[in-house]
Amino acid sequence: MEKTSFTRRYWLLIAILLAFVLGIVVGYALTLAIPEAAARSDINNWLKAFGDIFVRLIRIIIPVLIFFTIAAATSSIANARKLGIILLWMLILYIGTSILAAFWGLLGGLVFQPGSAVRLKPPPGYTPPKPPSGVDILLSFFQTDFNALLAVGGSMTMIIFAIILGVAAVIFMGERGRTVARFLELGSDLSVSVVRVIMYYAPVAVFCYSAWLISQYGPQMLQAYGSFLLVQYGFTIFHFIVIYSIIVALGGLNPITYFKYQLTPFIIAFTTRSSAVALPYNMEASKKMGVPDEVYKITLPIGATVNMDGTALYQALSALFIAQLYGIPLTPAHYGLVLFAATVGSVATAAIPGGGTVMLAFVFSVVGLPLEGIGIMWVIDAFADAIRTAINCSGDNACTILITKLTGYKLIKPESPKTP
Ligand code: ASP
Repeated sequence: MEKTSFTRRYWLLIAILLAFVLGIVVGYALTLAIPEAAARSDINNWLKAFGDIFVRLIRIIIPVLIFFTIAAATSSIANARKLGIILLWMLILYIGTSILAAFWGLLGGLVFQPGSAVRLKPPPGYTPPKPPSGVDILLSFFQTDFNALLAVGGSMTMIIFAIILGVAAVIFMGERGRTVARFLELGSDLSVSVVRVIMYYAPVAVFCYSAWLISQYGPQMLQAYGSFLLVQYGFTIFHFIVIYSIIVALGGLNPITYFKYQLTPFIIAFTTRSSAVALPYNMEASKKMGVPDEVYKITLPIGATVNMDGTALYQALSALFIAQLYGIPLTPAHYGLVLFAATVGSVATAAIPGGGTVMLAFVFSVVGLPLEGIGIMWVIDAFADAIRTAINCSGDNACTILITKLTGYKLIKPESPKTP
């Protein structure tokens, strides 16, 4: 590929990476130029404010994005009722593997404590969450009134409302329901496009936040980020190699064949950081592995939006990381919420770069963590997103192999390369 088209394709990623490095350099230079921490506070406030703008924009779009993506996905799933058995196994496997992945994130956070190197001050006005009771958890799924659905903290209730609306449109509105489904899909595309527009501001936010973090909290912050990425990459690659080998072998395919054909979609997903972009490559790989058209043509497009093991792992680990950075104690009840929120959050995440970090608004609000944590996670998102996206799309293909077997289909022997 020539240099210009490479730069054009990845300019946002490059800009974010440069902004990250530049931010660290500027933040460090500030600590040298103005050694007195109090004297830097004005500059720090401005830097943080320009980062906060980004988080605020994301918070505005979040309820709209959740509503449309979930309602659109529900209406499209309900449309495919005749394929109930495929869908049933698909949901069991997709959700089961995501819960497992979220568990690795939780375990990694608990064992390696990547956020304990630094102690940040919780944002003003933040009160530590009380562990919720069973009744609180039950009622938290249902909002008291429509207005409250729009609050970022009401994401879960919005998801339930969106599912009810999607099902209502398809089951009770006949032909007209299809028009509603189409409208929901357009709304989903529109909200993803709005996120894309906001992403143009991401390099500015990453620069300001990384400069602010280093200037405010010193270079130990780099150590915390390094530990986070090490734990995230370690557990994610473990899930990819060990868990997917088991799933694929249970489906009757040699894991080596799976890894061989999965390499291309893996690299595409790693570099573009979008499961949606990697989808055509994933479908091609599935065909090469011998999955019949009628199976992968359903499981992979739905999987691209619904099944995100890498994201579930990342979101659970991020919740622990932020709690550790702010010194917020979490109880076993909170760990349950982390697992739950990361699994649901990964389902609701859009298959675009940074989608999983946008959806941290949901995870943090369910667990009761400060939403400022999203800004902290944005600083390293380019790195964290690459591996989680690669695993998101690889998981769809691993589950598809097993679904093929469980639904009574057979893997077609891969064609020899010479066959026309
Ligand atoms: N970029 C991811 C994907 O497309 C989603 C995420 O940000 O977690 O799969």
